[in-house]
Amino acid sequence: MADHQLPDPSALADPPGLSRTNDRPVYVIGGGPGGLSAAAALRKRGVRAVVLEKSDAVGASWRAHYDRLHLHTTRRLSALPGLAMPRQFGRWASRDDVVRYLEKYAEFHELEIVTGVEVSRIEPTGPDWLLYATGGRQLTGRAVVVATGYNHTPRLPDWPGLDTFRGDLRHARDYRNPAPYQDKDVLVVGVGNTGAEIAVDLAEGGAARVRLAVRTPPHIVRRSTAGWPAQRTGILARRLPVRLVDRAAEVMRRLSVPDLTAHGLPRPDTGLYSRVREGAIPVQDAGLIDAVRKGRVEPVAALESFDDGKAVLADGTLLSPDAIIAATGYRRALEPLVGHLGVLDEQGRPLAHGDRTHPKAPGLYFTGFTNPISGMFREMALDARRIAKAVNGAAAGL
Ligand SMILES: Cc1cc2nc3c(=O)[nH]c(=O)nc-3n(C[C@H](O)[C@H](O)[C@H](O)COP(=O)(O)OP(=O)(O)OC[C@H]3O[C@@H](n4cnc5c(N)ncnc54)[C@H](O)[C@@H]3O)c2cc1C
Repeated sequence: MADHQLPDPSALADPPGLSRTNDRPVYVIGGGPGGLSAAAALRKRGVRAVVLEKSDAVGASWRAHYDRLHLHTTRRLSALPGLAMPRQFGRWASRDDVVRYLEKYAEFHELEIVTGVEVSRIEPTGPDWLLYATGGRQLTGRAVVVATGYNHTPRLPDWPGLDTFRGDLRHARDYRNPAPYQDKDVLVVGVGNTGAEIAVDLAEGGAARVRLAVRTPPHIVRRSTAGWPAQRTGILARRLPVRLVDRAAEVMRRLSVPDLTAHGLPRPDTGLYSRVREGAIPVQDAGLIDAVRKGRVEPVAALESFDDGKAVLADGTLLSPDAIIAATGYRRALEPLVGHLGVLDEQGRPLAHGDRTHPKAPGLYFTGFTNPISGMFREMALDARRIAKAVNGAAAGL
């Protein structure tokens, strides 16, 4: 990717080979997989798209993830439009390979990317959109694709008494590897995919003791069973009735996942897909089952508060860990950008997503704001094509 200066949109010539469909480009906010794939799909349709990325490179979120992270969706089912992931990545691409792929993707599709530009607010202006960006700049686009990420801003619960805790407390976003936790007693809070994997990483990486605070026991699935990836089941499940998928998942679980109740991790009392519909995707086993069975990761009750520096769990247990890692999720943080437009629900998620736009905001698209079990890379790839088609159709008056 070239080093980009913020272009004056009116002064930029269309890249070679593109038809001049409109003077004003489509602005894509965010240079992660969602934004890059939308830009590539737009370009393929001859629509000029400019990606605005606040950090200094594409794939900023992936660069910041912890060292041992691999995609839990397959290489093939995670490829973005127009460029396969290389076979050398293996079935489950590593974090570094994902970053390499995103860099290559931008280069391969000759995407126009401007780094170091944060968009703070967008407003309609006639049929166009006005973007307020870093340095007091204002840019006008014919349409906007918001791809700023589902995992935008770390969410840290406001635990009562937190200020009394004297140990090291950080959000999972700031966790890289177990090195700083050698011989430490660590409490990981939250048993989503991230919390589960960090707990295993700590246990394998030399922490003295690792406890995992669990509010709601998760569904745990094998990443792949007899060569069949869990993601494929997730794709099929989206077309089937919830109760049917819940029952099938229960059979699968009995066959492939041991009962960890005696180790402090009881079986969930709602079906897997019912839980997904409530927003909780299952935990893919990246070593948790084994670590819990061996007692290297100890599930404990949810963290409720702090009392005189001690962590107070939901069952009344008091703990004094050296460090706490909060794998407590993220906020979309879309309010400053678009909250004034009436396009968000009460949880701050876009009311219209993918190729659908809100009636109050034609030309304003969102991608990457769902968390499907079929895989976000896959869904963003599908949405990219749909958004490009919709933008093109709108330009043609369709
Ligand atoms: C630990 C983890 C593992 C995951 N593993 C998988 C997996 O295996 N398979 C899968 O399909 N999905 C996975 N996901 C989910 C999802 O695919 C990724 O989070 C993916 O990076 C989302 O892409 P995105 O482009 O929507 O957002 P991001 O990758 O977060 O990109 C958003 C970009 O927007 C930029 N930005 C934000 N705000 C602004 C602004 N106002 N102005 C300009 N730029 C801005 C950011 O700097 C960032 O570069 C995982 C997520 C996490 C957290």
